Amino acid sequence: MEKFDIIIVGAGPAGLICAEKLSKSELKVLLLEKEDVFGDKVCAGGLTRKGLALLELPDDVIEHKVYKTAVYSRKRHSQAETPDPVVVTIDRKNLGAWQRKQLDNTSVEVRKNARVTEIRKESLVVNEREEIGYRFLVGADGYSSLVRRYLDIPLEKKLIGIQYVVPVNAHGQRLEIFLDRKHFHAWYGWIFPHQGKNAVGCCCDPRYLSAKKLKEDFQHWLKEKDIDISKAEYQSAPISYDYRGLRFGNIFLVGDAAGMASGLTGEGIYQSLVSGLEVAEYILGRKEVSDAMKTVIRYNRIQEKMMKLFIRLGRLRGPVHEMIIMLLNNKKFKARVNKGFS
Ligand SMILES: Cc1cc2nc3c(=O)[nH]c(=O)nc-3n(C[C@H](O)[C@H](O)[C@H](O)COP(=O)(O)OP(=O)(O)OC[C@H]3O[C@@H](n4cnc5c(N)ncnc54)[C@H](O)[C@@H]3O)c2cc1C
Repeated sequence: MEKFDIIIVGAGPAGLICAEKLSKSELKVLLLEKEDVFGDKVCAGGLTRKGLALLELPDDVIEHKVYKTAVYSRKRHSQAETPDPVVVTIDRKNLGAWQRKQLDNTSVEVRKNARVTEIRKESLVVNEREEIGYRFLVGADGYSSLVRRYLDIPLEKKLIGIQYVVPVNAHGQRLEIFLDRKHFHAWYGWIFPHQGKNAVGCCCDPRYLSAKKLKEDFQHWLKEKDIDISKAEYQSAPISYDYRGLRFGNIFLVGDAAGMASGLTGEGIYQSLVSGLEVAEYILGRKEVSDAMKTVIRYNRIQEKMMKLFIRLGRLRGPVHEMIIMLLNNKKFKARVNKGFS
């Protein structure tokens, strides 16, 4: 049986950055991806400033730099224009290809069309045929993580994200966020501008609001906003925010597999990158939790508390949304919110 020091299952942002960090060591690393293409994931493709700082993406991977944002409640809105982009949008396949390229000419062995079908104590099985041994295993295999299931870690907290990818001709568009009790309940609606298309979507935790109801309300909202979805592609996928730790003996979880996303916004790329790097550092011998990881955990906790507060507010959510927009029209408050979220 072939053996590796580390096997990483899944080549999304978390697995790829973990592999890149480990590529600088002497360890024998294998990265397994079940698909033929890297990064083909349902996503609005919004990458915040802090995520960008970790990746240092070249301009040709960035689709749209967002300088202009607008937040709407039912009756009001607040606009902002910043000298630096608050968020950039990327095509997930381009991000995947770029991250994959960082592993060229390194010692990391990357195999695509390699689905992990079984996990054992010190080995795993690929495509139901080949058994490969590991010393450390990293589960970077997203929401339906086989590694998480092997560890028997429950998954209760999740969001369902739904969106339409709508073809548009507009350039220099704003990123728009919609706080709308009637249509998006405790969560929000988004329009992320890309090249020649917009990702228009929303999310909810199905424990509090069924995905069916969210979809119906979303359709009403699209009609109300006169957004033409006749040529749009409909997409839907779950996002896990059920974080229970990264380290489980010689097995680690990162990204969505670890439940690293935000339960309020569904943002998960940045958290995946931080946890991917964190686990690589643990494998390389670091014992303590990094400041970046502590900040992410705190940020996610605050966002989950905000989500729960919005749920508890019930019908009061409408007036609270109006108040948030009024506050956002205050320069200092707006600057703090922009900094917090980006
Ligand atoms: C509608 C929607 C919109 C979103 N918008 C945003 C956004 O704008 N910004 C943001 O930051 N986040 C967003 N997210 C969340 C973001 O997409 C995820 O948090 C992020 O992709 C998680 O990265 P990951 O590397 O952990 O997992 P993934 O990106 O899911 O990658 C997991 C990889 O593992 C592979 N894999 C799975 N099982 C196996 C197996 N058995 N064997 C081998 N390979 C396997 C998969 O093929 C995949 O390539 C959105 C999510 C949704 C659903």
